[in-house]
Amino acid sequence: MTRAGTSGARRRLTVVTSSPPGASETDLGRKRRARKIGRVLAETHPDAHCELDHSNALELAVATILSAQCTDKKVNEVTPKLFARYPTAAAYAGADRGEMEELIRPTGFYRNKTDSLLKLGQALLDRYDGKVPGRLADLVTLPGIGRKTANVILGNAFDVPGITVDTHFQRLVHRWRLTTETDPVKIEHAIGALYDKRDWTMLSHRIIFHGRRVCHARKPACGACTLAKLCPSYGTGPTEPAAAAKLLKGPRARDLAVAAGVDPELVPAQAVAAEVP
Ligand code: SF4
Repeated sequence: MTRAGTSGARRRLTVVTSSPPGASETDLGRKRRARKIGRVLAETHPDAHCELDHSNALELAVATILSAQCTDKKVNEVTPKLFARYPTAAAYAGADRGEMEELIRPTGFYRNKTDSLLKLGQALLDRYDGKVPGRLADLVTLPGIGRKTANVILGNAFDVPGITVDTHFQRLVHRWRLTTETDPVKIEHAIGALYDKRDWTMLSHRIIFHGRRVCHARKPACGACTLAKLCPSYGTGPTEPAAAAKLLKGPRARDLAVAAGVDPELVPAQAVAAEVP
């Protein structure tokens, strides 16, 4: 950036270098920037929600187990039949392995996942009267349920605030330089300290939405991103609006362009129709 100034009759040109956000930042500065990022994300993704279809805690637990190495869209194609066939923990515990494998085969790793679902049903029957418990300490003892899955269940089925550190969440908070931690539990605590607890669940959804639709792993849409001014990694992907607009994904891709001040006409139809990963 250049700024012109005058001194007496001589005209000077003062060069001002602008630091990217995040450079030499104080803890308070980082917290303020994190809060701003949270507010912009809320405006950018008013539709953010848990993308796994479910109507109760058991269904969400099952869908989350199926979502390992699989898109939420594929899981949502499989679960209506599965949930109808196995409506209770007892039904999972007593399921025919071969039949269940066939039902969930499209989600991949179906043998391991069937194993987890059978054991989950049995553990719920044995230890929790067939109900999914609403405490992190209990959830993580269940087959197929790690801390990430437990936080998804708590936040979305029990209204207990939880931070879901998945691959998108990790990538984005690193790009924003909100933490240098690499262990998911440490990331969860570091990011949790920057935001009000009541916001954790929605914040997780919004970050994951942004990661799936704008800030992709390989080519983020920096030139069509509402967070450009707050992001130290601006420039990781194309900054030219026409190139960036093509990288937006999903049915709201044109709205996302508008939110970032980019002409929505630059978003091609295939970006709008593109499957969100
Ligand atoms: S500016 Fe680029 S790197 Fe930063 S959040 Fe946006 S898309 Fe991601």
